[in-house]
Amino acid sequence: MTRAQVFFHLVVLALTGGSCPRALASEGGPAVSPQASVQLSSQLFRSKQPPLPEFPPCSPMTEAMLDVPRAGMPPAIGPLPQLSFCAEWNPEFTANGHHCCGKVGGSTRRNRRLQCAAHRRKASYCSEMTPEQREYGRQAADGTLGDVLERISREAWLRGDQSYCSVNNGFLAWGRRLIPSEANRILIRRADRCADFGTDPMIGMMEWLGRQVKQEFPAPAFSGTKLVVGDISAPRGGCLSGRGGRRGHLSHTTGQDVDIAFLVAKAGVESPFYFHRQFDIQPNWWFIKKLFRNPYACVKVVFLDKRLIRKLAKAVGKDPEWLALSRFIRHMPGHKHHYHVRVGQGPGEPGCAENPELELEDFNDELDLLDAPETERF
Ligand SMILES: [Zn+2]
Repeated sequence: MTRAQVFFHLVVLALTGGSCPRALASEGGPAVSPQASVQLSSQLFRSKQPPLPEFPPCSPMTEAMLDVPRAGMPPAIGPLPQLSFCAEWNPEFTANGHHCCGKVGGSTRRNRRLQCAAHRRKASYCSEMTPEQREYGRQAADGTLGDVLERISREAWLRGDQSYCSVNNGFLAWGRRLIPSEANRILIRRADRCADFGTDPMIGMMEWLGRQVKQEFPAPAFSGTKLVVGDISAPRGGCLSGRGGRRGHLSHTTGQDVDIAFLVAKAGVESPFYFHRQFDIQPNWWFIKKLFRNPYACVKVVFLDKRLIRKLAKAVGKDPEWLALSRFIRHMPGHKHHYHVRVGQGPGEPGCAENPELELEDFNDELDLLDAPETERF
């Protein structure tokens, strides 16, 4: 566990009275075996929620993001990284006045007019890749890297935190690129943009989901069923530009947010290579359940338009999993043609945090400002 994670953990314990059962076990609380800890975690979660399939229990690793001060929260969750580290990784360090974390905020109306720093108003972020990131992408694409998912599983969390500051104005260290392959049925909507970098848990989750699609639809007639992925983050995170120089998204700065097209699974039909409004219940409910169950990253929230949430509720509202998961599927304007998924720093139960309600309150000012169907290019 890194110093930041230990510090965050202690802060959480102080704030919650140690409500996370895994925390009690690992911080010298009552002696609880790992198995009992998992059971206890499940019991506590289920005492407030309808039954859910087994998820990894909460852990200090799950949500250890450093953050800028917020109302009602400590001044910083964990020590801020060294300035030299921020200078190396944060592509907006200079634009932030040589501070690690910049500021973004205000009303949604004002956010609509926000722009990225001048040097980042561009269509492609490929020039911001490190040599190591370039080499990884090359080897993963030509197969010389070996099994990508096995590699992610081996390397994840070895270098500590990857996401810094806030999701709306942060950066990403050691970002990993999502690479389409025969194994994963993934299509990157705009690979030339180089905005398909994420944290290890994020990329592990996406790679795993892409493989789940292949497993679920193995018949040759469904070989065109693909997981179409939009923006995640730039190689080092930071602001992503959209059309006309405006911000493309309010978030997507720390490698923890991803836009995904609705799943189209029809025999003999290729999935549209763009965001679209075709929302078939069966494949998409299957996808949502897989998403929340992925073993790499806890899902904090899925943004979706309210009409689609109502459509889902009408069709699967009696499914116990809907009763349990629907509180993490939130309406947000601008999400009629894609999912926006936000993950935590590691595996864990839906919501990630010890107190998911606190987390959900933070999402009220969130938009994919300029995500648009294929017809609206920037
Ligand atoms: Zn998004």
